[in-house]
Amino acid sequence: MLDLIVVGGGIVGLATAFRYSARFPGRSTLLIEKEDRLASHQSGHNSGVLHSGIYYPPGSLKARNCRRGKQLLEDFCRESGVSFETPGKLIIARDEGELPRLAELRDRGRGNGVQVEELDHDGIRRLEPQVGGVAGLHIPESGVVDYREVCGAFSERLEQAGGRILTGTKVHRIHQENGLVRLHITGGGEWIAKRVIVCGGLQSDRLAQHSNIDPGVRIVPFLGEYRSLKPEYAKRVTRLIYPVPDPRFPFLGVHLTPRIGGGVDCGPNALPTLSREGYSKLSINPRDALDTLGWPGFWRLAARQLPMAAREFWRSLTLEAFAKDLSRLLPGARADWLEKVPSGVRAQALDRRGELVDDFLTRRQGALLHLLNAPSPAATSCLSIAEDLLETPGFLSPGS
Ligand SMILES: Cc1cc2nc3c(=O)[nH]c(=O)nc-3n(C[C@H](O)[C@H](O)[C@H](O)COP(=O)(O)OP(=O)(O)OC[C@H]3O[C@@H](n4cnc5c(N)ncnc54)[C@H](O)[C@@H]3O)c2cc1C
Repeated sequence: MLDLIVVGGGIVGLATAFRYSARFPGRSTLLIEKEDRLASHQSGHNSGVLHSGIYYPPGSLKARNCRRGKQLLEDFCRESGVSFETPGKLIIARDEGELPRLAELRDRGRGNGVQVEELDHDGIRRLEPQVGGVAGLHIPESGVVDYREVCGAFSERLEQAGGRILTGTKVHRIHQENGLVRLHITGGGEWIAKRVIVCGGLQSDRLAQHSNIDPGVRIVPFLGEYRSLKPEYAKRVTRLIYPVPDPRFPFLGVHLTPRIGGGVDCGPNALPTLSREGYSKLSINPRDALDTLGWPGFWRLAARQLPMAAREFWRSLTLEAFAKDLSRLLPGARADWLEKVPSGVRAQALDRRGELVDDFLTRRQGALLHLLNAPSPAATSCLSIAEDLLETPGFLSPGS
């Protein structure tokens, strides 16, 4: 019998198993991942941004975990030799109509303790001569990192501390009996632990159902497609360049992100998709499709967001439409500046009323704890979320 099992080898599961093994040397920890490789889904297919915390409502779990998590993750990267860079970010108002929302973001950021510098048109040009916009915010502390490399470092540190990692092993059912948790896995085997934490990302609602817990939400997948600036155009920006986000939508809009190893990615867009783990807009998984289309909240959301979804599909279909949108940040950007790069799929919890759950969400039942919603900035926040999971009141009582 083990002290702790963590299900899910994405960045949050790995951070949680690593923190537990570091805090409680001598206790047994096992991490179970269904794919052959760690970080196979969201944690290995994202923008690689170390978010500052400017976007999130003060007092929210996202705001607190992002601020604390960024600091913890940067410290971890320094200790573990994982490189990260801090090029800073510009958030650009592309027309006068976006100025009130830019001012709200400035206040929100400052409320969260983020250093924010206001820029007029000339100020933008001084920092980024190729970028257009009527006004902007400069956030010097925004950074970039390779989250796959971070996951690799967590797994090494976990194993050094005596923790075990089992890949290629799917958890099918979870149940509690006499205060212990039993996990039924691929091939008919089982594992027993005193405590289990489930960080299942795109499968988090199903893993709750496999534990006889009603998650109350459905995971709706959103495909995020990227393009990359061809090498001859990649020197046009040196910082992260973002639009002012649309408050009706949980995603941040197509942006430019310098990658840690060089190059500049543009994206991601946000297309509702019918496959949780399919990385093309043509992927359809019948079970995922039924789960999404059978959820009443999906149709309520669709009725409200139809114009937005249509715009996203159009932008996805033609490189010209993608480039046109990009040219509002980077004037002159054309389709022939861009090349395709791999996509990601976001796990977003949606409730029955059709509201996207904005904040991180957990559900505990006895010795079992599920992380149900961990959208961006969960990669930035992973170590802080890990601390919160381990400190869930009454979950790890002394000596447990
Ligand atoms: C396109 C995109 C861009 C993003 N950009 C950023 C960014 O720039 N900065 C940022 O902070 N965040 C970003 N995010 C968000 C961030 O990547 C995620 O919030 C984070 O990776 C979630 O980590 P996770 O461990 O919860 O989930 P995941 O990485 O999805 O891991 C869950 C794991 O659980 C495993 N699993 C599922 N079911 C089972 C089972 N039955 N048995 C065993 N294992 C199972 C899966 O195989 C998977 O490996 C982005 C996300 C996407 C998709």
